[in-house]
Amino acid sequence: MKLELHAVTKSFLSAGKPQRALSGVTFTSDFSHVLALIGPSGGGKSTLLRILAGLTAPDSGAVRIDAALLPTAEKELRSYRSRLGIVFQAYNLFPHMTALQNVMLPLVQVHAIPDAEARERAFQIMERLGLADHAEKRPLQLSGGQSQRVAIARALAPKPQLLLFDEPTSALDPEMTAEVLALIAELRESNTPMILVTHEIGFARKIADRIAFLAEGQVLEEGAAGEFFNDPRSAEARRFLAKVLAY
Ligand code: ADP
Ligand code: MG
Repeated sequence: MKLELHAVTKSFLSAGKPQRALSGVTFTSDFSHVLALIGPSGGGKSTLLRILAGLTAPDSGAVRIDAALLPTAEKELRSYRSRLGIVFQAYNLFPHMTALQNVMLPLVQVHAIPDAEARERAFQIMERLGLADHAEKRPLQLSGGQSQRVAIARALAPKPQLLLFDEPTSALDPEMTAEVLALIAELRESNTPMILVTHEIGFARKIADRIAFLAEGQVLEEGAAGEFFNDPRSAEARRFLAKVLAY
C-alpha cells in the first residue's frame, strides 16, 4: 500500500483561536503490512489517522492512497469509509446490544448483508478471535481486553481493505494489552495492511515495516522500522526514543 501526503494541514478552534494540529504533513510511505505512526502526545497522530479514515477533512493538502485521491464528497467518502476497519482507544460498543450484535451491525447497516448471513459471518470472525464464548454477552460483562477484541472483530467482519488503529491498548492493563497486541500481531499475517498509532514503542518496533514519526504537526521522518530505531535522523526522534526507551 502506498500512502502519499502533500502539505496536509488541519486547525481546530481553541477558545475562538485556530490552533494547528497538522502544519503541512508531507511524506510517502510504501508498506506491505504495518505502518506505525509514533511520536509525542499532541503531535497530531490522531488527527492524521482521522483524516486517513475519512472522518476529518483536512483544511488543505492532498492525500493519495494507492494513487487515488482521498475523496471529499460525502457520498464517495461514505463508500471509502465502508472499505476501512477502524479501531479506537475507546471500544465504542453499543451497551444495549450483545457482542455478536455489535459485530453484526456494520454488516447489516453499512453493507446491507441479510441478517442470517451477517450473524454467521460475525460469529465466524468472533470464533477466529477466540470470542465464541462471549458472543451473547453485553459489553458490561466483558473485560477491557475482550471488549477491544470485539471491536477488532467488528472492524474485520466486513473484510476491510485497510485497518486503522488509534492507540488500541491505551485503556488496557498490561495483561490485556498483551492479549490485544498478540491479536494485532496475528492479523499482520492476514495481508490486510494496517496503519497503527501506538505508544507501545517496543511493539511498533517488532511489528511495523515502516515508521512515520510525527511531532508538532509534522512528519519529521519516515523510514524502515529497523533503520528508524537504530539510527533516527531527526534530533526530535532521537530525543523521543531516548526518553521512551530509557526505562
Ligand atoms: P496525538 O494523537 O498525537 O496526541 P492529536 O491529533 O490528538 O495528537 O492532537 C493534535 C493537536 O490538535 C493537539 O494540540 C490537540 O489538542 C488538538 N486537537 C485535536 N483534535 C481536536 C479537536 N477536535 N478540537 C480541538 N483541538 C483538537
Ligand atoms: Mg491521539
